[in-house]
Amino acid sequence: MVEPLIYDLSSLGRRGVRFPEPDVPHTDLPEKFLRKELPLPEVSEPEVIRHFTRLSQLNHGVDTGFYPLGSCTMKYNPKINEQAARLPGFAHVHPLQPLETVQGSLILMHLLQEFLKEIGGFAGVTLQPAAGAHGELTGVSIIREYLHSIGETQRNKILIPDSAHGTNPATSSMSGMQVVELPSDERGNVDLEALRAECDQNLAGLMLTNPNTLGLFEEQTLEVIELVHEAGGLVYGDGANMNALLGIVRPGDLGFDVLHYNLHKTFSTPHGGGGPGSGPVGVAEHLVDFLPGPIVGIIDQGADDNPPLYGFLQPQKSIGRVKSFHGHFGIFVRAFTYILMHGASGLREVSEGAVLNANYLMSQLKDIYHLPFDRVCMHEFVFEGRWPDAPDIHAFDIAKRLMDFGFHPPTYYFPLIVKEALMIEPTETETLETLDAFVDAMRQIAEEAHTDPEILLTAPHNTPFARLDEVQAAKQLVFCCQVPEFIKAVEGD
Ligand SMILES: *Cc1c(COP(=O)(O)O)cnc(C)c1O
Repeated sequence: MVEPLIYDLSSLGRRGVRFPEPDVPHTDLPEKFLRKELPLPEVSEPEVIRHFTRLSQLNHGVDTGFYPLGSCTMKYNPKINEQAARLPGFAHVHPLQPLETVQGSLILMHLLQEFLKEIGGFAGVTLQPAAGAHGELTGVSIIREYLHSIGETQRNKILIPDSAHGTNPATSSMSGMQVVELPSDERGNVDLEALRAECDQNLAGLMLTNPNTLGLFEEQTLEVIELVHEAGGLVYGDGANMNALLGIVRPGDLGFDVLHYNLHKTFSTPHGGGGPGSGPVGVAEHLVDFLPGPIVGIIDQGADDNPPLYGFLQPQKSIGRVKSFHGHFGIFVRAFTYILMHGASGLREVSEGAVLNANYLMSQLKDIYHLPFDRVCMHEFVFEGRWPDAPDIHAFDIAKRLMDFGFHPPTYYFPLIVKEALMIEPTETETLETLDAFVDAMRQIAEEAHTDPEILLTAPHNTPFARLDEVQAAKQLVFCCQVPEFIKAVEGD
């Protein structure tokens, strides 16, 4: 099935718009600007609408179906967020407006900082970082600056478990640190012996994702943090998986020194396809002075009838800006709306629902899909997408076959420590019926893998293209349709 190009619909002389009679004299455009190889398709208005509406529907989104993409928290994005972000006072605000004219926006940012402090158990928050990875870069820079400020300039080693997201080692080495990988033990936790062996005077810190990317709560979090602190290092928390912890445990209370939040995951904003995101960073008391500035705060308490004036404050030993202006404001409005809408108890329910849904799926499927770490999971879990008695089938084929059932594939081949990994995160916004339909599809696929592998190997069957070269498809986009063929069609050879 090949989608028609808009040029294929073209018919000579057909029009979608009519211009009014010009009230200025006619002049011909200079010939050199009229390139024959760039004709316009001639189509009616309904054809244009139908064409682009159909194209838009080829894209699987969380508004069109289940999207259990592990580690990404593809939850339903409440539409009230969009209404709030579209309010003219928020949508049209300009970063260079005088402070007095943007007090509402500043109060929103200030409250969001306060909410995130409360949710994570931290003393200070910056909203600047543009996404999770950017938050990591910011957090590691804060750690380095702090260590330098106390004379510990030799500390340049960051420990990262082998289950970590790829951004963790990438951002650590971008900030000039040496990355040392830590193995996981047989329960999927950080191997404490390996950690002890690395705890020396060069240790700058450890980056820990909790729950980790196997969807497991690090059972020895307190010991891990204590070991790193005793060795003089700091602990960075990758908070991308906060969707499992809201209102249940606060990373700051566990002893994490720094943590980034992924507003676009945990606090809902449409994401994927590259952004925009938002990755605020929270820090414990001893790091507050190092936060990137400016931070939103009260710059004038006001007197008598005058309300306090909100503005920007520069932390004393700030690492400096990490973003032009103040971060991705539209995402702040969405996250703020989401947090207000749920309230404290509602946020806790979000996490309880996410963990319950993941455990439900896992328990319904673990008799037929191998679960390498058989423990109660948090908001996601990882299966092996292979069977010894179906050697031709890989996780990739299972992922592709799921598309025939109208489901977005889970994350596959990540985390790297599980062979043929299928990483499934249902999120809290799915109904029991959807989860059951997914279970049915997964069970049918497992059956087919053994009885009719060809149907998996050739999947998906209902999409315009089945199996692309995934790297080239992203790197070498073909934006332009085959215009020469079009010219041939309308003009003849
Ligand atoms: C998504 C994610 C990141 C990176 O966040 P971005 O906002 O995509 O930059 C880091 N760590 C984990 C565990 C993640 O899931």
